[in-house]
Amino acid sequence: MNAFNCKFNKRVLVTGGAGFLGSHLCQRLLDDGHDVLCVDNFFTGTKHNLLPIIDHPFFEVVRHDVTFPLYVEVDEIYNLACPASPIHYQFDPVQTTKTSVHGAINMLGLAKRVKARIFQASTSEVYGDPDVHPQPEDYWGHVNPRGIRSCYDEGKRCAETLFFDYHRQHKLRIKVARIFNTYGPNMHPNDGRVVSNFIVQALKNEPITIYGDGSQSRSFCYVDDLIEAFIRFMDAPDDFAGPVNLGNPGEFTIRELAEKIIDLIGARSRLIEKPLPGDDPTQRCPDITLAREKLGWEPTIQLEEGLKRTIPYFEKILSAG
Ligand code: NAD
Ligand code: UDP
Repeated sequence: MNAFNCKFNKRVLVTGGAGFLGSHLCQRLLDDGHDVLCVDNFFTGTKHNLLPIIDHPFFEVVRHDVTFPLYVEVDEIYNLACPASPIHYQFDPVQTTKTSVHGAINMLGLAKRVKARIFQASTSEVYGDPDVHPQPEDYWGHVNPRGIRSCYDEGKRCAETLFFDYHRQHKLRIKVARIFNTYGPNMHPNDGRVVSNFIVQALKNEPITIYGDGSQSRSFCYVDDLIEAFIRFMDAPDDFAGPVNLGNPGEFTIRELAEKIIDLIGARSRLIEKPLPGDDPTQRCPDITLAREKLGWEPTIQLEEGLKRTIPYFEKILSAG
């Protein structure tokens, strides 16, 4: 109930709400009738992603860094704040770990005070360079604790630890999702991730940069499918805390992805090989049995269709200069 004594929908906080996934989530929550507060420090997120919703009467944005405490009153929290692409999370690795760890502590503290349900955007990176394939949730991972990806991988692992300790110790209602590579409109065109890099390169007819020999694999989930899973997970019974893998189990090598994008765009780009970055996982594919069972969810948009929906977004950005 609010001060007007009428029932309203939930007040939902989205940290990292100006980013790629966060902006889609804010849009979906507004469409579902909720009151949405977006918190972001705009490190990788941008107000451009929020333009379609910025004037919505039930939408607010606050510039804030989650490594500092936040005092607001909300019913649900989606904690997405953290740079996700390797070039961005490696730019200031200490800040990346702080964002995951201090950010989790601050958001969990907030959730505890206001008794909110809290969702954590964890990642397939908690499995590191996996020696079990595909990866089920009970696999503990194979992670380098001191490499160039560790600030992100170990930061996210520590955040999971904090979530489960708050759950056990303070009975907090938590939802931990392990997200696998996701793509779609609102990705940052220069964030260095493979889908955005390849589409931008193909649209410019520039060489497609394959790191290593391109035999490493990834599974690519279209953003709308992922956001549907977020909502179902948050709405699922409290005794289902996760962790749950969310991703598309269709697995492709990076070379296959490059060829598909060239084909769809009709580009004249050629493939060139560049050195493979350190600790780059050789394969990654989610086992989504648990998500199917508990959430009745599986992706519905396969790679070719998702790319067809994504390419026009990058065309528009490039044509705007
Ligand atoms: P993104 O970089 O587009 O969005 C992250 C957002 O967090 C940005 O808006 C950024 O400005 C904000 N942010 C970063 N540090 C912050 C801080 N200290 N305080 C407040 N805001 C801060 O990335 P994304 O792809 O939208 O990822 C969102 C979340 O999902 C991240 O936590 C990421 O680790 C996770 N995730 C994403 C993927 C994927 O494929 N996109 C895969 C696994 C996990
Ligand atoms: N990759 C590539 N060329 C690029 C960008 C990325 O070959 O221009 C490779 C990268 O080395 C990795 C895969 O594509 O093997 C996915 O990279 P991304 O950064 O998108 O995600 P992550 O490695 O975190 O899964």
